[in-house]
This record gives sequence, structure tokens and C-alpha cells, in this order.
Amino acid sequence: MTNILVTGGAGYIGSHACKALKAAGYTPVTYDNLITGWADAVKFGPFEQGELTDRARLDQVFAAYNPAAVMHFAALSQVGDAMRLPEVYWHNNVAGSLTLMEAAVHAGCLDFVFSSTCATYGDQDNVVLDEDSAQYPVNAYGKSKRTIEDMLADFEFAHNLRHVIFRYFNVAGADPDGDVGEFHQPETHLVPLLLDAIDGKRAALTIFGSDYDTPDGTCIRDYVHVCDLVDAHVLGLKWLERGEDSRVFNLGTGAGFSVREVIGHAGAVTNRDVPVIEGPRRPGDCTKLVSGSSRAEAELGWTPTRSTMDRMIEDAWRWHRTGHYEK
Ligand code: UDP
Repeated sequence: MTNILVTGGAGYIGSHACKALKAAGYTPVTYDNLITGWADAVKFGPFEQGELTDRARLDQVFAAYNPAAVMHFAALSQVGDAMRLPEVYWHNNVAGSLTLMEAAVHAGCLDFVFSSTCATYGDQDNVVLDEDSAQYPVNAYGKSKRTIEDMLADFEFAHNLRHVIFRYFNVAGADPDGDVGEFHQPETHLVPLLLDAIDGKRAALTIFGSDYDTPDGTCIRDYVHVCDLVDAHVLGLKWLERGEDSRVFNLGTGAGFSVREVIGHAGAVTNRDVPVIEGPRRPGDCTKLVSGSSRAEAELGWTPTRSTMDRMIEDAWRWHRTGHYEK
């Protein structure tokens, strides 16, 4: 079986990717420091604990497993923290990714799938965001991811490290079988937080800003089901295996939902009230981030089948009531 090194394989998206890789016949080797990830989420292949910035440990893991490719999910990804602690974001995300790329080149592992973000585009009202859109990230999270994209281009030129970059829009939902799901501590993301508010684990969901220039005053995002998202990664891996050129793909559906619309769907799907309070804007948030690209569908053959808002909430709600991890 072909080994794939999955950094961040103990996290939300990485654990779903490991399940998809295993189903596609690969062996996912998780490399994770367990700061935000969970050992319980590593169910589909071997686990190696380590830091991205630890070159000696990475060299050891590359030598032990001889992976055919890297899928690089491990990152700090919270906009609020990135605004408060940019140094931590630059260190972990940028220095960590650089060390990983150096180790991959050293090991001769030259296929690299990278999770980037629509946050690299920044706030561009009324602009359709496709892969050729200019990138004006407005927070240290988006800037760190944008910088890693630049590093990948340089590493390809100099060292033939070929890459597929996925710029995610907002990810939601959970594995329908309940093997893995979204579980952050502390939680900062909209869907799990509003499910907490619905079942009384928190008093209310705070809407971060209701004075944006959108039809209902709240921010608009494009949500993708985590299982659809990781399916694209397997297709990205096969793209590199076939020897195709390095490529950037947006992963979004093109449908924008405001925070209030997401709340409305959650109330309807769960048939419960959603206690809500209105609060100030969260620094670093963009007004609207919606993908205007179908490149992943056209070129990779990606078909998102589960990314309706109701399905994402349904799967997230099932996981929310039954699944959790423990340290
Ligand atoms: N949001 C909110 N209240 C919360 C968490 C998030 O109103 O408690 C909003 C946030 O401002 C953004 C959207 O929900 O407009 C999605 O935020 P999330 O943190 O889930 O993802 P992000 O867009 O930051 O990647």
C-alpha cells in the first residue's frame, strides 16, 4: 500500500482525509503535535507525534514510511487568534511548512497537497473569487497561507516539489458514519457553536456583526461539506500521480449563506430554537467570501454531493450529539 504523510491528521479536516485516503486504498500516516488535534481521531493508519518545526523528527518519519506524497493540513487556523498572536501564526504555519517542505525535498517525496484558504483573497466585495483573483489577505492567518503558497511555487521551480493547492471556503459537517467529526477546544466555528446553543451547552450564539453591507447585515460565506472537501484531496493526489502540472483549486460551491441564514437552516433541521444575541464585528472578518470557480469540477472531476446547508447541519448535528474526543 502507498503511504501518504498527512500532517494534521488528528484534526477535523485531516481525520476525514485519512478516512477518505484509506477508502481509496492508501495508508495515511498521521503526523500531528496534538495541540489542537486528538489521538482518538487517528483511526485509519499509523500515528507519529511531532512538531512541524522539528526537522530531525520529520526526517525520521519520512525515512520510516517513505511516503509517496504529503497532504499538509496542520496549521493554526483561527482568525481571532491570528489577529492577537501573529507571531505564533507566522512561526507555526510558515516556519513549520518551510521545514516540512525542506524535509520532503530531502526525502525525495515531491508530490505535495496543501490546504490553503479563501482568506488569502481577503475582502473583495462584489468580486467573483476565482483562482486568478488577486490575493489581499487581511489577517495573519490568510497572510501565512498566502506565503506558503509562494514558497511552494519557489520550491517547485528550484526543487521540482509539485503541488496542488486547495483554497477552502468554509468547511462544515461530519463523517455520516460518525467515525470522526468536528471537535475543537475551544470551539470558534459557526456551525458547532450554534449547535451548542441549540442544545444548551452555551447560553446563546453571538452574531459577530449585524451591520455589514449584506442583505441581512451579517457576513456571507460559502460552506462545503468536509467529506466533499476531502474527496477533492484524493483527486488532487491522483492529479499529481498522473504527472499533471501544479495547480490551484478553490473548494467552494458558489452558494453564499449569511450567518442569519445558517442559523435559520440550523433551527429548521434540528427543529429547535437557536438562542442568538447580536455582538460586535470580529476583527479580521471579511464581509463576503464566495467561490466563483468551477475549476475543481471541470479539471479534477470533483462533484460535491453533500454540500447543501441542510445536509451539512444534519451530519454535524448527528456528530454533535454522539461524538467527542478525549485527551
Ligand atoms: N460567526 C459568528 N459567531 C460565532 C462564530 C462565527 O457570527 O460565534 C461568524 C463569523 O463572523 C463568520 C462566519 O460566522 O462570518 C463563519 O465563521 P467561522 O469562524 O465559522 O469561519 P471563518 O469564516 O472565520 O473561517
